[in-house]
Amino acid sequence: MSSPYSAYRSIIGKAEHDLIARLAQRLEGRSLAMVNSTRDGGGVAEILRNMVPLLNEIGVPTDWEIIEGRPDFFGMTKTLHNALHGRPEPLTAAMIDAYWEVSRMNAGKLADKLDKPLVFIHDPQPAGLLRDLRKPGQKWVYRCHVDVSNPFPPAWDFLGPIVTNYDASVFSHPSFAQKMVNPQFLIAPSIDPLTDKNKPIPPEFVQKTLRRFQLDPKRPLLTQVSRFDKLKDPIGVIAAYRLVKKTHPRVQLLLAGGAASDDPESVHILPAIQEAAGKDPDIHVLDLPPFSDLEINALQRASSVVLQKSLKEGFALTVTEALWKERPVVAMAVGGIPLQVLDHKTGYLVHTVEGTATAIRRVLDHPEEAAVLARNGRKHVLQNFLITRHMREYLSMFLSVLHPGQAIVRFGA
Ligand code: UDP
Repeated sequence: MSSPYSAYRSIIGKAEHDLIARLAQRLEGRSLAMVNSTRDGGGVAEILRNMVPLLNEIGVPTDWEIIEGRPDFFGMTKTLHNALHGRPEPLTAAMIDAYWEVSRMNAGKLADKLDKPLVFIHDPQPAGLLRDLRKPGQKWVYRCHVDVSNPFPPAWDFLGPIVTNYDASVFSHPSFAQKMVNPQFLIAPSIDPLTDKNKPIPPEFVQKTLRRFQLDPKRPLLTQVSRFDKLKDPIGVIAAYRLVKKTHPRVQLLLAGGAASDDPESVHILPAIQEAAGKDPDIHVLDLPPFSDLEINALQRASSVVLQKSLKEGFALTVTEALWKERPVVAMAVGGIPLQVLDHKTGYLVHTVEGTATAIRRVLDHPEEAAVLARNGRKHVLQNFLITRHMREYLSMFLSVLHPGQAIVRFGA
């Protein structure tokens, strides 16, 4: 359940609250369809689940559509995802055929639903819909959530020409932007401070959650919350924990995650994590069901250090969530993470397993310093990464796309 839009006023102030409402009015009721490939699992679904009801409430009629796929299609899009992140995973002709076949099938199902002034496509899975469904007068925007700063070239050779046909594209970080003829917007993702995932919760619930998962509330807890995915480097997290354990034997490690329905790899990763964890009773691997938001909220709040050891990353909402909860964060300097973790200001940026272990020890040994960084982290999120700023930028972008060539878009009467 999302909170009413008016509830955000006390967090962001009246001026920002009212500005967003005026931007929405300026769209004059034009409707919009968001499209991605899953309703649960991963950051894109998290954002859409929070934003779609709010856009509707402020007068921007917004539908959220999901494409359907088959195992060979999601196998292809996962390979493409990894290759866009730079892994040398080739796309075969059969994979590309499967992509377009499923895209056409979805186009048949979604034709009426996507007959809107604005169609907003998230990530490569539904990107091909434009080819079959674009109508004159419509605007199609491509939202890239992936770090495409250094793709395996065949991956961008596939996706780039598709994205070039859109009216505009949106990237999370300046370094992800690509050479393209259409306008590009830089808009960072966000968290919703009022959802079960991020709202304040009673300390008793935090304690109860720790007990429920057999975690010791009296011992330091190192946590990474992430889908079970190689690029989140859970094995590297375990390696860093083992180094820390040598000097700080009381630490416990929690790897909390789950699967996403559009990610076929996760089922193979979980057993590999369990094997790496071995019989260590202080490593806790939790395979959480979808929508375990209150549990994740509690586990993040209970953590002495929140880790994000990703090898590649789009943005990492898990980092935003931890900073908002004033937790000390140790995270790899990849993708959009450095936008959030300003090294030695809002957390610690690291580059290796050894560096991760050193930064964890620093947090454990200097809790006052870590608390200052964590407070800065919350302020940084308040100023830059809440859903309201995200909506303001999307609405401004929609206005710009709907008024092409106009340097000034007038507000109000
Ligand atoms: N998440 C979750 N359950 C899990 C693992 C992750 O609800 O088992 C949430 C996490 O709290 C965050 C989102 O999924 O809100 C992950 O977004 P992020 O940008 O960190 O990574 P992505 O999965 O999109 O690569």
